[in-house]
Amino acid sequence: GADMNEELYSTLKSKFGFNQFRHRQKQCILSTLMGNDTFVLMPTGAGKSLCYQLPAVILPGVTVVVSPLRSLIEDQKMKMKELGIGCEALTADLSAGAQEDIYSDLTSENPTIKLLYVTPEKISASGRLISVFYTLHRRGLLARFVIDEAHCVSQWGHDFRPDYTKLSTLREKFHNPPVPIIALTATATPKIVTDARDNLKMQNSKLFISSFVRDNLKYDLIPKAAKSLINVVEKMKQLYPGKSGIVYCLSRYKILQKKRQKIYLTLAFFRKECETVQMMLTKAGLSAEVYHAGLNDGLRVSVQKGWLANKFDVICATIAFGMGIDKPDVRFVIHYSLPKSIEGYYQETGRAGRDGMPSYCLMLYSYHDSIRLRRMIEEGNTTTGVRSMHLNNVLQVVAYCENVSVCRRKMLVEHFGEVYDEQSCRNSKTPCDVCERQRKNPEAIRLFDVSNDALSIM
Ligand code: ADP
Ligand code: MG
Ligand code: ZN
Repeated sequence: GADMNEELYSTLKSKFGFNQFRHRQKQCILSTLMGNDTFVLMPTGAGKSLCYQLPAVILPGVTVVVSPLRSLIEDQKMKMKELGIGCEALTADLSAGAQEDIYSDLTSENPTIKLLYVTPEKISASGRLISVFYTLHRRGLLARFVIDEAHCVSQWGHDFRPDYTKLSTLREKFHNPPVPIIALTATATPKIVTDARDNLKMQNSKLFISSFVRDNLKYDLIPKAAKSLINVVEKMKQLYPGKSGIVYCLSRYKILQKKRQKIYLTLAFFRKECETVQMMLTKAGLSAEVYHAGLNDGLRVSVQKGWLANKFDVICATIAFGMGIDKPDVRFVIHYSLPKSIEGYYQETGRAGRDGMPSYCLMLYSYHDSIRLRRMIEEGNTTTGVRSMHLNNVLQVVAYCENVSVCRRKMLVEHFGEVYDEQSCRNSKTPCDVCERQRKNPEAIRLFDVSNDALSIM
């Protein structure tokens, strides 16, 4: 009723410092507060965390948040502590003493912890943790389960994590009375959503979807040739002096698990591409650092922190860099190598322009790169099903790149099942390259055929 509404807004203001809800935050919050299982699909940066953090603050008890990465967890924990919200994280690197402190708070009469972050491995491996959950549940203090980055539960997703599939037991174990589950993701292909809802036993959940259109991102594509990266970087330097960017280089597939020696060679190879790009950028007068699988955890963290603090301009990343990284003023994302799927591309470019200001997303395309990706997939030891899924994903990326007539925004959001009228791209301040060509010359499509140099193989 009215009281609830008022309480939502006053907590939003007093605890989080925001005046308005964004996207479908309020609907999601109301749904989960009413005890529904809730499935939230909102693009990266939309503000999904608030959908469970605000209810955690309003209601008594402990909210358990499952999150895939330690870096994501640490980031959230820091934010919650700054806001004065009781928050702890149970991760593998915790000292025995710190772990004991958390357990004793959770089993105390009045736990001060409102949000408990855990990795999925912790839930599947720790009988002690589950028994603490049982005790909380019996005492009516287990407020909610949160499955963040819920696409990790689907093997069709770009970021499958086997331990996520074991989360389905949460629904069965804590059913009397049922503990509401809220699952959140920015990956919304219908197939993955269905798969994730099935795997998490959340078929009856309320589903909330907000638009995936990113009006301030300009999507562009040019063929990858010897000088193309340098030329683009020169342009970026003038357009966005001193601003941050990401250059994505080729990264390996998680399924690549062959002999030791082979992995070593593979790492060396990826490191090389990354460092080549770094050198090119440095020559062009930009400060750049690398972020790849060959760096140890400590180095990765320090590179990431340096970038967040604007200590250098560009990060040349090979591995899944950026998940959950909340840097508002990234002005450009360049793909020096092909992304592995359309979703991956959407996520990676989605790290640009979170502050709503115009930002630039460029794909440097060469057909040769897609062959490289396909070779990697074929060499990986995995099941035929997974292999053909990866191959199919690459083919979709190739189709996106070789497309000369359909608006790129339309292709991207329609991949997520959303309907989009390309006139809005054509009329926007940041039209994609296809729409821009058509705006300049409506006849362009017919003139721009495959024999045109601009799209020939590198
Ligand atoms: P997501 O998980 O959807 O990628 P986050 O939950 O990390 O996004 O939120 C992204 C940013 O938006 C954070 O900095 C967060 O503080 C901010 N934010 C969330 N909700 C609001 C709101 N209602 N008003 C203003 N900023 C918000
Ligand atoms: Mg998030
Ligand atoms: Zn367009």
